[in-house]
Amino acid sequence: MPTRSRAATYARRRKRRMAKVDHDLTDEQWDSLKNAWGGCAYCGASDAALQKDCMLPISRGGRYTATNVVPACGSCNASKCNIEVTTWMRRKKLDERTFLVRQAQIAAELD
Ligand SMILES: [Zn+2]
Repeated sequence: MPTRSRAATYARRRKRRMAKVDHDLTDEQWDSLKNAWGGCAYCGASDAALQKDCMLPISRGGRYTATNVVPACGSCNASKCNIEVTTWMRRKKLDERTFLVRQAQIAAELD
């Protein structure tokens, strides 16, 4: 019986898991999120192309859902990377409290 490498098995499982996760946030929800924030959720940039940023990174158990995804500009997204959102905001001296209040309101409206 041929043995498959452990890495290949993990890669396949991860791919399947990611494909499933991707579908949680619908295109309509993403559009609503971008409209509600009106720009980058972190720095407020409104002229940048917005990317889906997971507040709780996928690598830490976060998922692509309306309650975990916020629009972020490329620079915030790249800077935050896979750091947990409040830790990162504190480090960047961004207004964490205002962000969390607004995020909770927007997520509640979408849910
Ligand atoms: Zn930004």
